[in-house]
Amino acid sequence: MERSFGVDDVLAGQPSWGTLIKRGLMKKCPRCGGGHIFRSWFRMKERCPRCGYLFEREPGFFIGSYFVNFMIAEGFLFVLVMVFVGFKANSPDMGIRVPAAIGVAIAIVGPLVFYPFSRTIWSAFDLLMTPLEVEEIVQAADAVLPPPESED
Ligand SMILES: [Zn+2]
Repeated sequence: MERSFGVDDVLAGQPSWGTLIKRGLMKKCPRCGGGHIFRSWFRMKERCPRCGYLFEREPGFFIGSYFVNFMIAEGFLFVLVMVFVGFKANSPDMGIRVPAAIGVAIAIVGPLVFYPFSRTIWSAFDLLMTPLEVEEIVQAADAVLPPPESED
């Protein structure tokens, strides 16, 4: 397998915030933009297979992703309520059953659908707020780069 990641990438600076957020929204590694970082919909790999970035940077790291997931679900519910209020203003006889059913569906299905995105978005936010330490860069490189050739 040919490596698409080299020393230049290790030495490269922090991606811009726009790039980080875009990668988070696309379910990509925030550091290099590489894909295939999930084993399944709910299981993330420990490190990025392309750049070696360790996703769980400290114990309890992904608690923040639950907050992101919560905010996404709340955002959709807010939009639903606003649309309902708009319709209700024009037709006061409109029932609440359909909007309530949609709301329940969003509240249950939404967090499951957005689970992996919430993790990559959180990882992107974290990398934005806390750039990698040299030690983390070296460990990431060690995880993906071949060992240096011996001198003899
Ligand atoms: Zn990566």
